Amino acid sequence: MKKSGKVAIVGGGVAGASVAVVLGALGIGVTLFEAGESLVSGPPMCHLHAGGNLYREISDAQCLRLLRESIEFVRLYPGVIDYRPTVIAVPIEDSGTPEALLPRLGLLQRAYKELITLDSENAVLGESEDYYRLYSREDLEHLRSLPDREQAGAFDAWMIPVARGVDLDSVQYPVILVQEFGINMFRLGAAATLALRQMENTTLLMKTSVELIEAREDESGWIVSYKEEGEEKQEGFDYLINAAGFRSGMIDAMLGFTIPRFVEFKAAYVTQWREETQRWPEIVFHGERGTPRGMAQFTPYPGGYFQLHGMTKTITLFEDGLVQCDPSSKQPKLDAFFIRKLEEGWSKEEVEERTRAAIAHVARFIPAFESATVASKPLYGAQQIPGDDPELRAAEVSFEGERYARCEIVKASSVLAMSDAIADRLTRLGYLSEKWDRERIFASLTGLDEDELSHYAKKLCVTRGYPEALASRTVNRLIAEVKQKD
Ligand SMILES: Cc1cc2nc3c(=O)[nH]c(=O)nc-3n(C[C@H](O)[C@H](O)[C@H](O)COP(=O)(O)OP(=O)(O)OC[C@H]3O[C@@H](n4cnc5c(N)ncnc54)[C@H](O)[C@@H]3O)c2cc1C
Repeated sequence: MKKSGKVAIVGGGVAGASVAVVLGALGIGVTLFEAGESLVSGPPMCHLHAGGNLYREISDAQCLRLLRESIEFVRLYPGVIDYRPTVIAVPIEDSGTPEALLPRLGLLQRAYKELITLDSENAVLGESEDYYRLYSREDLEHLRSLPDREQAGAFDAWMIPVARGVDLDSVQYPVILVQEFGINMFRLGAAATLALRQMENTTLLMKTSVELIEAREDESGWIVSYKEEGEEKQEGFDYLINAAGFRSGMIDAMLGFTIPRFVEFKAAYVTQWREETQRWPEIVFHGERGTPRGMAQFTPYPGGYFQLHGMTKTITLFEDGLVQCDPSSKQPKLDAFFIRKLEEGWSKEEVEERTRAAIAHVARFIPAFESATVASKPLYGAQQIPGDDPELRAAEVSFEGERYARCEIVKASSVLAMSDAIADRLTRLGYLSEKWDRERIFASLTGLDEDELSHYAKKLCVTRGYPEALASRTVNRLIAEVKQKD
C-alpha cells in the first residue's frame, strides 16, 4: 500500500526544478524552495553535451553517460532544445589532431545505435549513421563556392557559413560535424515553471530562502525553517532534497554532513555580430584548458547574437575561480571578488574587457567576427563539482541515510538519471508504487502551450537583463529536413 509522502526540495535550478517536475508528475506532494525570483536563474547552460565531444580530457565512460543522459533530457524537455549541430575543429596551433577524436566518435555512434535499437523513441539526435560527418578542406572549398544553401543537403547547409567564415588555414582536417544540440536556459526555466504551476500537488515558493533544517526527533523526516518574502515559517517533511547548486555545502553544514567537492566560477559572454545573417552551427575550436590558447566556443542565437566561451583565465576561467573544500569546512569558499559578482553584478569595465577578449579569441579563427560588439552583461555563475576530480563532467546524486538526497549534477543533461535515483529511494520508502509511469513524466512537459512558453521565456530573459533573442532557439526541424533532403 502506497504511503503519502511530503518532499522538500531546496533550490530551483535545473536540478531542483527537474526533480520537482518528475516527482510532481508521479503524484508526490512536493514543495520547492527557491531563494531567487525565478527558476533556472543560476549558472548558465547552452550545450546539451550529447556525447561530451567538447571534452577531449574526459573518459569514454563519461562521454557514453553524457550521450545516454542527453537523449533522456531531450525526451523530457523537447521544447527547450536548440536543434543545431556542433562543428568541432582542431586548430593548426593545437598539439592534438582530429584523427585522435575519431575512435570516440565511432564508439558514441555505435552506442547511439544500440540505444535506438532498445527504444526507437531514443532517436532524438537523428539517424545513428548521421551522428557525425567529416569534412575535408576540399569539401569546405566546394561548399564555399555554392551560391546559396538551398543547393546543399541539410548537413552541408550547416557547413556553408563555416566554409565561408572560418579561416580555412587556421584549422586541421577533417573538420567534424556532430549532432550535439544546444539547450535554451530561459525556455528551460519557463517550461519547468509552467509545468509545476499546472500540478495540484506541487508548491512553488519563490523568493524563499531555507535558513535551517533539523531532523525530527523520531528520525521520520525534517523540520525546514524558511523565510518567505521576509516572513519566518516552519514546516515538516518526510524527505529532503538538497538541490542548492554551489551552495549545497551550506545545506550539508546545517545537517552535519561532509563530502569533498569543488566550486567553480565561470562566465560566458554575449555578443552581437550585426551584419551577420547566416544560420550558424555551434563551433568548438579545441585548445588546452587554462592556457591562452584554451578552447573557444561560438554559440549562435537568432538575430546575430553569439554566446562565447574561451577556456583561458582572462575569458571564461578565472585565477582562483576553482576552489576545493578544506578539511575544516563543508562549503568551498569562493573569494569575495566572485561573491561580489554573484550578488552585485559586474562593473561595465569588466564586462567590456572580458567580452572584447572573448571576441578576439574567436576572431583568430573567424576573422570577420572581429566587428562583433558587446551585447549585454555575461551569463555567469558558480557550480559544484562533487568529489576530488575537477574534470568530472557526468555526476548525478548521492544519499545520506534513508531520507536525504544531494543533487550533484555537473551538466544539465544528468537531471533525469538523478531524478530516477531519487524516485527509486522514494519507492523503497513506500511513497511511490513499484512501477511508476515514465510517459506521465514526459507528458507534463510536452503538453505545454508553445505561445505561453515562448512568452514567459522572453519575459525571464529580459527581466534578467539579456537581449530577448537569447530566449529564442533554432527550431530547425533538423531531423525532418535530413530525411527529406539527404
Ligand atoms: C559559464 C558556465 C557555463 C555552463 N555551461 C553549461 C552548458 O553548456 N551545459 C550544461 O549542461 N551545463 C553548463 N554549466 C553547468 C550548469 O550551469 C550547472 O551544472 C547547473 O546550472 C547546476 O544546476 P543546479 O540546479 O544544480 O544548481 P543552480 O542552478 O545553482 O541552482 C541552485 C539554486 O538553489 C538556490 N538556493 C541555494 N541555497 C538556497 C536556500 N538556502 N534556500 C532556497 N534556495 C536556495 C539558488 O538560488 C539556486 O537557484 C555551465 C556553468 C557555467 C558557470
